[in-house]
Amino acid sequence: MNQLVRCINCNKIFLKTPFDLWPEYDSISNRSPESFRSIEKDDFQEFSRNHRGHRLENMQIIEDSFISEKAYAEPIKISYFKATNGKESFVIKKFREKIDQPLTYQLIAGDYFLKCVGIEIQPKEIAKQLEAEFKAAPLPQNEMVAFLSLYQQVVKILDIKNLERVPDESPHPLEVYYKLNDVGLAYLLRNCRNIFKGERYLDIEEFIHRHKDEGVLLLKATYQIQVSEKAPSKKKAISAQISSKNKKMMEIE
Ligand SMILES: [Zn+2]
Repeated sequence: MNQLVRCINCNKIFLKTPFDLWPEYDSISNRSPESFRSIEKDDFQEFSRNHRGHRLENMQIIEDSFISEKAYAEPIKISYFKATNGKESFVIKKFREKIDQPLTYQLIAGDYFLKCVGIEIQPKEIAKQLEAEFKAAPLPQNEMVAFLSLYQQVVKILDIKNLERVPDESPHPLEVYYKLNDVGLAYLLRNCRNIFKGERYLDIEEFIHRHKDEGVLLLKATYQIQVSEKAPSKKKAISAQISSKNKKMMEIE
């Protein structure tokens, strides 16, 4: 179990992870697992030493709150997760600046949310698929271009809130795929009639049905992690002032 300890005085944190107990095996060094373990223990002892006499509290990590701006395997990236001390919520920013540096954990009072910054079609993939499936009677270039620009127009009228997310995990944590909804589908098919005639329209209609739920017609939404930092609580300071004022008044009385 991960254990997160916060020094209330300094607003610094220390994360004890299961990995601390099993540090990566270092083939160059001949240290035994025991000596590794004591090194990790020393890390926390150092934290305790630096914060001697300060108020420490255990924080609870919010399950499933972990989000990263890059894929899991990327060594240099910023990740966030949430934690609480039961009264206040916090965001923990986890990062390293260089590959050979240890991870840094920064405590931020506040919260984070994901903001959708764009939704787009996959033009290259669509064109490739159309070429592959229409090999016998290739689409003229102008029809291909018209179809792609029509689909781009369709996406502009869609609201991401009305789209269904595709459960497959995207390799990039901030790129999420969505299915075209019925409104978008109707608009796309209706306008395809202006581009494609006869048999070709029917082929395109089938193509759309084949690829809208899982395939090249999926829509790619890009998200950004936005951290909303809570201003340091002035309430406490004000209430402290008020109470000292009251105290004075009481003394005067
Ligand atoms: Zn401290």
